[in-house]
Amino acid sequence: MKIRFHGAVRTVTGSLHIVETAQGEIVLLDCGMFQGRRQEARERNERFPLEPKRVKAVVLSHAHIDHIGNLPSWVARGLRCPVYATHATADLCGIMLRDSAKIQEYDAKHVNKNRRPHERTVQPLYTAEHAEATLKLLRAKPYHDWFEVLPGLRARYQDAGHILGSAGITLEERHNGSVKRLGFTGDVGRDQRVILRDPEPLEAGADVLLSESTYGDREHPPQADLHEQLAQVLERTIKRRGRVIIPAFALGRTQTLLYAMYKLQQAGRLPKVPVYVDSPLACMATGIVERHPECYDGEAKEILRDEGTLFAVQGYACITDVADSKALNESRDPCVIVSASGMCEAGRILHHLLHHIEDEKNTILIVGFQAEHTLGRKLVEQWETVRIFGRRIERRAEVVTLNGFSAHAGRSELAAYLEKSRPAGPLFLVHGDEKQGLAFEDFLERERGFPDVRLPHEGDEWKV
Ligand SMILES: [Zn+2]
Repeated sequence: MKIRFHGAVRTVTGSLHIVETAQGEIVLLDCGMFQGRRQEARERNERFPLEPKRVKAVVLSHAHIDHIGNLPSWVARGLRCPVYATHATADLCGIMLRDSAKIQEYDAKHVNKNRRPHERTVQPLYTAEHAEATLKLLRAKPYHDWFEVLPGLRARYQDAGHILGSAGITLEERHNGSVKRLGFTGDVGRDQRVILRDPEPLEAGADVLLSESTYGDREHPPQADLHEQLAQVLERTIKRRGRVIIPAFALGRTQTLLYAMYKLQQAGRLPKVPVYVDSPLACMATGIVERHPECYDGEAKEILRDEGTLFAVQGYACITDVADSKALNESRDPCVIVSASGMCEAGRILHHLLHHIEDEKNTILIVGFQAEHTLGRKLVEQWETVRIFGRRIERRAEVVTLNGFSAHAGRSELAAYLEKSRPAGPLFLVHGDEKQGLAFEDFLERERGFPDVRLPHEGDEWKV
């Protein structure tokens, strides 16, 4: 078989790797959306390296938009084939792709409203119908069991411990008496995270291994102190009768926080206040996490058995209605509000920031990665004046950043995972900025004795 690199090469978004079997059949590993500035993102998401009709199967690693989000574009242009995913990923695809289609349609409408008379109208990248057509192609598979992708080609999922349903993938081809194996890590999580199991290494000895490299040049702080730090922030703020506003990604981070708050409550460390999750997508994602205990670690299974739910935080309420969301800002009583978007670029979190940022009693708690130029990054950098909805606002609220919640392995954790998954052939690094990738390549070769680590360019091919 042959692997051709297309997306997530020397960058972190748009995961897409093209496999061509010995019989000349095409299989995609992931089909992610490229996320970035509007024009560039649009161009990259509409650049198809081959006729979508030719694809015979898609194998997805997990339900983050940068791994699944461009699939409806391919479907809109003729892709009609089985799309494999774990059971939890298949469920999450439902909410993530429908939400993404809504954003695409809203975005096109917004651009058209503001266009000048000589400019052409913009079509959404894809629509709700394309998302629905994509969901019909999904075929859910359990972890660990080999399944046939095409005659002569089988695949197996192993838990990647990154988000619910996330998996590393092994592809195995049998052709003319020879057996070839390709490993793909997807995104790799960290050991000892709440709810999820630890990442399972892929079987060593593959003919080629593709690995993510998001934090290839960085270590994460230990997770052990994290709950203590969270407890201190909550206690301090509530004691001064303030509110804690937490921007968080709907899938993953929100559920981790709820779980952490439940644990604090059990330990008597969470003051009795309401905990609101104000994001329809986050509420749906939480519901899906509850429906997939097959993905839980031992502790989460125990809590489910004792409490009947993983998210048994007292005072927890899910807010979906816009009116209820607005009502949260009519009172000043202490509470915790978790809302999206995670980088404070859009969504309901902006309204909550607007209403709370000027009061020094409140705390804005940052728990996720904040890209450059976002409002979230400015908050991390402790800017004293920020712009929200075009208004200059003075920030008086305390801003606290907790970095330990990352869903990605740091450098040493990822290297340890790769040592257990050591391939017989080359190790290709994808899904990392060039700087991270180069640093990690160097680290793996010098410090961990990997003989052949490569950073591919778009369009590079490798024959297994
Ligand atoms: Zn991911």
